[in-house]
Amino acid sequence: MAATGLRMGVVGGSIAGCAMAIAGSRAGADVTVYERSTGELQDRGLGIVIPPPLHEQLVATGYLDAAMPTAPVATRVWLTRQPGQRSAREFARQPSPVTPCNWGLLWRALRAKADSARYYRGRPVTSVERTASGHALVRAAGAEESYDIVVGADGHRSLTRHVLAPGLSPSPAGYMVWRGALPLSALDGHQRQLELLRSAWITIGYPGGHGIFYLIPRGGGAGPDERLLAYAVYAKPPAPEPGDPQELAPYVREIADEHFPPEWADIVARGEHTSMVCHPVTDLHAPRSADPPFLLAGDAAGVTRPHTASGAVKALQDALCLEEALRGSASPAEALRHYARERTAEGARLMELGRRLGGAQVERTPDWTAMDQEAVDTWCRATLAGSTSYLYGGVR
Ligand SMILES: Cc1cc2nc3c(=O)[nH]c(=O)nc-3n(C[C@H](O)[C@H](O)[C@H](O)COP(=O)(O)OP(=O)(O)OC[C@H]3O[C@@H](n4cnc5c(N)ncnc54)[C@H](O)[C@@H]3O)c2cc1C
Repeated sequence: MAATGLRMGVVGGSIAGCAMAIAGSRAGADVTVYERSTGELQDRGLGIVIPPPLHEQLVATGYLDAAMPTAPVATRVWLTRQPGQRSAREFARQPSPVTPCNWGLLWRALRAKADSARYYRGRPVTSVERTASGHALVRAAGAEESYDIVVGADGHRSLTRHVLAPGLSPSPAGYMVWRGALPLSALDGHQRQLELLRSAWITIGYPGGHGIFYLIPRGGGAGPDERLLAYAVYAKPPAPEPGDPQELAPYVREIADEHFPPEWADIVARGEHTSMVCHPVTDLHAPRSADPPFLLAGDAAGVTRPHTASGAVKALQDALCLEEALRGSASPAEALRHYARERTAEGARLMELGRRLGGAQVERTPDWTAMDQEAVDTWCRATLAGSTSYLYGGVR
């Protein structure tokens, strides 16, 4: 079926929303995107890692422009503090090809490719519902529109998900992630760390958590080779927890001071962040990612723990799957059933993988000081439990 004439509404115009809009338009649908935010989403300058083959596929199929800057590296380096000392010890190195992107640049690149869709900014959807004729009704800004298909790409608090999975709510993992981006001036005087980051992404293990560091394109009009340092740090929050997790943002510096080798603690402490967020880590998986005429994409369909680095990846793969399903099915309902079969299973797999990685790398951390290359490879294999992850491509 070419989806010519099919009317597709998309709730949410972020990574998943723009990717789904491209998918629908490429398959021939007439697409309308409703985005609640009035601001520029490209301002979210955090790091996103995607697998190199997916990046190549997205460029080859026209979802992304080849000119979008990326900062690829092929190795993962594991560090911890020397036993009984503060200095850093490298204890393992694994092949791990990744394509780090700047979240804002990725959004902007997808948004540009979604230009044949109608994109309404500052237009929150207030409700979606199924009509007696099997269509989907979208209400926004006091008006209502009927669609053949409605995509819920409205993030982890998705309103669309309530139609498919009423009452589903995220399960807290019991720990938090601090996510930031720093100008490279934070690495002034740390030439060895900068050189390492130019060829590898770094994991620093400590009791009760770990931190990830990698370079991303700077964005914001800078040249394609200019970089920011992105990090994600995982740990349990201090007690008592404040009502607003953002109040805990400065706590990342205490974690770094207490647990990181001093040069890495210094980098986190001295940087004037360009972006900084912290929030609880949760698990969420909708038991059905589509039920005609609705389907869910990206975080609306499920949130996996960030250790899998797969939220945006899943959203992009959701879009590729929708395009294929629309092109290859006899009706929109058949296309959505095809989508549900493939994407529900993948969401469940990633949530399980995220739980295992979180268990091994935060909830029950090993004695990092006792780890060596062989111990890391064995421990990674056990954590993966036969599952695949592009981050662990070299671990067999
Ligand atoms: C620490 C951390 C590290 C990560 N690292 C990676 C990584 O390396 N690789 C990776 O692939 N992923 C990563 N992710 C995940 C990734 O950031 C998200 O999965 C992805 O950005 C989700 O995109 P989305 O479009 O589904 O949701 P969102 O970006 O949340 O977008 C939802 C959109 O819907 C809009 N919206 C909501 N409600 C309405 C409404 N009622 N009407 C209209 N609009 C609405 C919102 O304004 C928003 O723009 C990471 C996440 C974290 C927390």
